Amino acid sequence: MLGWSLNLFRVRGIQLAVHFSFFLLLALVAQEGWADERWTGVFWNVATLLVFFTCVVLHELGHSFTAIHFGVGVRRILLMPIGGMAEFDSIPREPSKEFLITLAGPAVNFGIAAVLWAIVGVPQGWPWGDYDFPANATGFAQLVLHWNLLMGCFNLVPVFPMDGGRIFRAILATRLPYLRATFIAASVGKVLAVVAAVIAVYFYHAVLTAVLFAFIFVAGEMEYRAVKRREIEDAHWRAMLAQLYPVSPPVSPPAEEPPLLSR
Ligand SMILES: [Zn+2]
Repeated sequence: MLGWSLNLFRVRGIQLAVHFSFFLLLALVAQEGWADERWTGVFWNVATLLVFFTCVVLHELGHSFTAIHFGVGVRRILLMPIGGMAEFDSIPREPSKEFLITLAGPAVNFGIAAVLWAIVGVPQGWPWGDYDFPANATGFAQLVLHWNLLMGCFNLVPVFPMDGGRIFRAILATRLPYLRATFIAASVGKVLAVVAAVIAVYFYHAVLTAVLFAFIFVAGEMEYRAVKRREIEDAHWRAMLAQLYPVSPPVSPPAEEPPLLSR
């Protein structure tokens, strides 16, 4: 399913691709704009969506450039209606690197918000009171500021494999084995995803948000399984190597730890 995508252009060697379902979203917002204000509506809705997803791309580039800095290859950034996804060759198992790579995405959103705040400020009463974004360039910039703050905060919610969940795993992995840390982060994430989905439906009637959390729930489980599979494969190869090249000296007593089998 993820294969149905259209390649756009490359940024520092990273292929930017758009999943075909994104065009359904584009058609949907264009149609809504047409129903409201004909061509003016189409123009504003499409432009708004493109600006929003440009911020998503910048968020993913934040992750990607930090990953490249640490020597991790980034194949592409895929845009989907539910957001963006940077595909790395391998996620480093060093908690400090994973922590920084993950943090760099939301940091880009907070950076954009800070710059816009300095330039256009925020409307009266924002964010908790009664406020309106004026229908002009300033209002639009304030709306983009608002989105970026939301995007940065939303991604920091500790629901694995969202950024917050990855940061949580990285912190756990400084003290626990990687698989154990992933298991705990994924389990906490799944519980929170269910809670968030229920809250979204019952209190806000936000069915799409609930669907998004259902996707995140499944993605968390899939990523945990992938880590587990890799861990089992690694153990298998280490055992094979141990058989091919026995390292324990023939006469001395066995080492405290079985060589090659443990990390
Ligand atoms: Zn992110």
